[in-house]
Amino acid sequence: MEVPFARPRFRGDEGEAVSATIASGWVSQGPRVREFEQAFAERVGAPEAVATTNCTTALQLALYATGVGPGDEVIVPSLSFIATANAVWQCGATPVFADVDPRTYNLDPVAAERAVTSRTKAIMPVHQLGLPADMDRFFEVAARHGLALVEDAACAIGATYRSRPIGSLGPLACFSFHPRKVITTGEGGMIAVHDPDVAERLRRLRQHAMDVSDLARHSANDIVVESYPERGWNARMTDMQAALGLCQLELLDEVRADRRRLAERYTAALGQISALEPPYEPDYAERTWQSYAVKLRRGVPVTRTELQRRLLRDGIATRRGVTAIHAERAYSDRGFLLPHTDACARDAMLLPLFPDLSDEQQDYVIERLATHLSAAVAA
Ligand SMILES: *Cc1c(COP(=O)(O)O)cnc(C)c1O
Repeated sequence: MEVPFARPRFRGDEGEAVSATIASGWVSQGPRVREFEQAFAERVGAPEAVATTNCTTALQLALYATGVGPGDEVIVPSLSFIATANAVWQCGATPVFADVDPRTYNLDPVAAERAVTSRTKAIMPVHQLGLPADMDRFFEVAARHGLALVEDAACAIGATYRSRPIGSLGPLACFSFHPRKVITTGEGGMIAVHDPDVAERLRRLRQHAMDVSDLARHSANDIVVESYPERGWNARMTDMQAALGLCQLELLDEVRADRRRLAERYTAALGQISALEPPYEPDYAERTWQSYAVKLRRGVPVTRTELQRRLLRDGIATRRGVTAIHAERAYSDRGFLLPHTDACARDAMLLPLFPDLSDEQQDYVIERLATHLSAAVAA
């Protein structure tokens, strides 16, 4: 049996929606992107949403619009995908890594507050693997030190924090539509924005900071001469991607429900495998189960890589857990001491989880895990 690691769900009518967009003649950022932004904003409870090429550009633009620039520090978790730190660097600022809560893999508000200096401009918590960070405590820390908050919500489309959807809480939350995330547009990002003036500025910044949109110019009945009041980027989503995104948004609830059901099935079964620690379930959040992470308990006589290798031979794809960015060469020059981050990066492993994973496939994963781990324990 072959069990892939992840695969997006499609309904079958996406090709038609994309073809219709192509037939309309408008393929770059236009009416479909506008429609997708409005539907997304409504879904996550934000007044506005601004589409971008991906979540990394979304984070960079959100930080930039917040005023982050050269000389500034932004506090981020090291336990994250490297894009979290790269977005800070792309603004000319310095990412400062703080440790995580080892149970949730999320930035620890106490550690984040300890990392505040006179140069700190913002804190960027990550809702890691789709589990919301403890946002109320981050709002307190940010208010106490006069800092901005930008959420890296790449994996958190559809997650809720104290019953409120991620996107409805803070001034700026950035989401990803990469196929490894909850729903996809191939590549794509979205910024949920609360201040309409900031949303307007972000819409300009993503198209070279031009003060008229293509859509506005197209529908004008006189000559429109654009101007460029500041410098910007090209971070436009295409209308073809937005057409796909509108289809995916309609699947979000069932994708979430299927992911949750499969995650609960894993957790129930893993109770029988003492070498593995199932994910911690805080009572304040409903996560997306973008990934299902288990920890290999200390003292188990098989390394994570060896376990992954044996599973791969069985046809089962897994991934190491979330990376520690400060241990990667790109960011290893500043000697951060982050013991919880190191331990999580060392011991965690992601199991296959996607909405169309069949019960048979999942049972096979569980059976192979049990076999390899009991053989390791017996040896
Ligand atoms: C995937 C991911 C990103 C980057 O998203 P892209 O859309 O691929 O740019 C950023 N942060 C986190 C936590 C992610 O998981």
